[in-house]
Amino acid sequence: MTFDATAITLPTSVRTAIERLGVRGFSAYAVGGCVRDSFLGRAPQDWDITTSALPEEVETVFSDHRLIETGIEHGTVTVLFEGQPLEITTFRVDGDYIDNRHPSSVTFSRSLEDDLARRDFTVNAMAYHPEKGIVDLYGGREDLQKKLVRAVGDPEKRFDEDGLRILRALRFASVLGFAIEEKTAAAIHQKKDLLRNISPERIREEFCKLLVGVGAKEILLDYSDVISVFLPEISPCVGFDQKSKYHCYDVYRHSVEALSCAKPDLLTRLALLLHDIAKPSTFSLDRHGGHFYDHGAKGAEMTEEILKRLRFPNDTIERVTLLVEKHDFPIPATERVAKRLMQKMSDEDILRLMEIKRCDRLAHAEGYREPVESLSAIPELVKKIRAEEACFNLSGLAVKGDDLIRAGIPQGEEIGRALQMLLDKVIDGELPNDKRILLEFIAANR
Ligand code: ATP
Ligand code: MG
Repeated sequence: MTFDATAITLPTSVRTAIERLGVRGFSAYAVGGCVRDSFLGRAPQDWDITTSALPEEVETVFSDHRLIETGIEHGTVTVLFEGQPLEITTFRVDGDYIDNRHPSSVTFSRSLEDDLARRDFTVNAMAYHPEKGIVDLYGGREDLQKKLVRAVGDPEKRFDEDGLRILRALRFASVLGFAIEEKTAAAIHQKKDLLRNISPERIREEFCKLLVGVGAKEILLDYSDVISVFLPEISPCVGFDQKSKYHCYDVYRHSVEALSCAKPDLLTRLALLLHDIAKPSTFSLDRHGGHFYDHGAKGAEMTEEILKRLRFPNDTIERVTLLVEKHDFPIPATERVAKRLMQKMSDEDILRLMEIKRCDRLAHAEGYREPVESLSAIPELVKKIRAEEACFNLSGLAVKGDDLIRAGIPQGEEIGRALQMLLDKVIDGELPNDKRILLEFIAANR
């Protein structure tokens, strides 16, 4: 990590914009995430500019560019540089927060100091100007060095102002692989219920980033009380003794361990976090130990409800729910099984299901882990089935509904049943996918 100006290479558009504002007598800096990421040697996702110019002044300075005004009441003008959007925001002091959510007023300021003071964490509160250098009023560089997320100012006050910052702290710690500074951490635990005032959409956005971060495991384990505020279903899992020789962890710890073995893919990690969510409610005990009959199916129901509540897109809800439902099904490596899976999910999701099984197994007690090597067989079979263009669903079946109508089967439900029966026989290898033979079979078996 380099903490001087040499770490920062401004894209041409950013440099040009800062210079142009300067020529017109305004001060302007690159600020926030882009400065932080440059110091960390990570490619910034986007470059934000903060300036003393008021929004209408920014519009005048860039009147020869295309402008987007959507954020203007917060002081943001988006300027398009050769099609690339650059957000330029006026220095702000946030007004009183009356509902722990949104400032009741946005006051513009002519001072960079004000603007840095309203930012959430020290590592996010640094600014850079190509001639004036780095402005770091809160020890952001020191915290980068120490790998700490620390609130700017008094953490309790800052969380009172905006409860989302509680989850943002966890998100940045997870994504950057940082710890959370002691006082900030204490305030997070103490103020966690402020997250109840935050919209599900904003929670979801931060939580998704948290889940795919390098430090997700540590954060999920250390802050399960905070996560429980918007995901109360995990509370019974925390500390839940599985009473099983196969498990060395409680349900929650097992889920988080499994999640941390997985690639940083959102759907996979969501499914792993939730795969055993129904274990506490399906627990039974006999002389062999703990059992969790139907925890996959019940878990799928709970998953659907949770993801709906957090306003995930329908596609994500459907896919994660199916992954949770199937996570515990035995999947013998046969073409038949592969084809049945292909009927239900995309090839990509079949790979996810196998990754989920792999991670689930790895998070079992040593000596009681099923081998993971065999899990690559199904994806190989899927490839083979694709290469052979073998039939695995109705659209690949050599016989269509029309053929059956012509063969004299009455329209309606019976057609559907006949097609499904033929498909099952083709998938099971009992009949070839051949139109003549299939129609003969139907004729003989009506
Ligand atoms: P990313 O790379 O994920 O976009 P980022 O640091 O740019 O990270 P954003 O959410 O895009 O994060 O916010 C941009 C900057 O705005 C932050 O770096 C921070 O300075 C400030 N900021 C954003 N949200 C808040 C908030 N709720 N409270 C205070 N400051 C905030
Ligand atoms: Mg950003």
